[in-house]
Amino acid sequence: LFVVFEGGEGAGKSTQVNLLADALRADHLDVVVTREPGATELGARIRGLVLDASSHEPSPRAEALLYAADRAHHVATRVRPALERGAVVISDRYVDSSLAYQGAGRTLPVQEIAWLSSWATGGLKPDLVVLLDVDPGVGLGRVSARGVGTDRLESESKAFHERVRYAFLDLAAADPKRYLVLDAARPAEELAGEVAARLSGMLAG
Ligand code: C5P
Repeated sequence: LFVVFEGGEGAGKSTQVNLLADALRADHLDVVVTREPGATELGARIRGLVLDASSHEPSPRAEALLYAADRAHHVATRVRPALERGAVVISDRYVDSSLAYQGAGRTLPVQEIAWLSSWATGGLKPDLVVLLDVDPGVGLGRVSARGVGTDRLESESKAFHERVRYAFLDLAAADPKRYLVLDAARPAEELAGEVAARLSGMLAG
């Protein structure tokens, strides 16, 4: 089973990823927690190239290709092997992040990003995408309270973060069976309860 958490900055994805992993492990399931970009050794280098690039910011198409390269390697070396042995794989970000950030955010054609992503992953789709929907003002406020790496985020316009948010919501609306959309402003334990309930239905089915 492949579960992905998506959402804008400061949505609380990593908290939810960890709460879900703990809950499933308590049920003795084999759980692999991972993320994009940067879960593999190659991916960590790509993440550095894209995100720590103050002096050499990649062009939008180069950025899209770097995220796609991270994803191709991540799926081939980590996600597919874990799924093949029957593990539950939980990823913090996946294809929707590219559709939202590189597509809607950087205004590259979304269909082309979808095609690139499908090529990179060999067509691997998540069984469930949990979208933690957050108002960008609230999310960015949470991130800056954490006090790390906010320069890059704040250099993007409010409109950029709004486009990203609505792209995620549109993807969810187009495929409701595959998505669980939650209001990220709610308490973390409550959100975790809803995720666990949806998952237990899927694991039982
Ligand atoms: O989720 P995490 O904070 O690790 O993501 C790092 C950053 O990478 C995010 O701030 C997001 O803006 C960016 N990102 C992106 N496009 C992706 C994935 C992540 O712009 N496909």
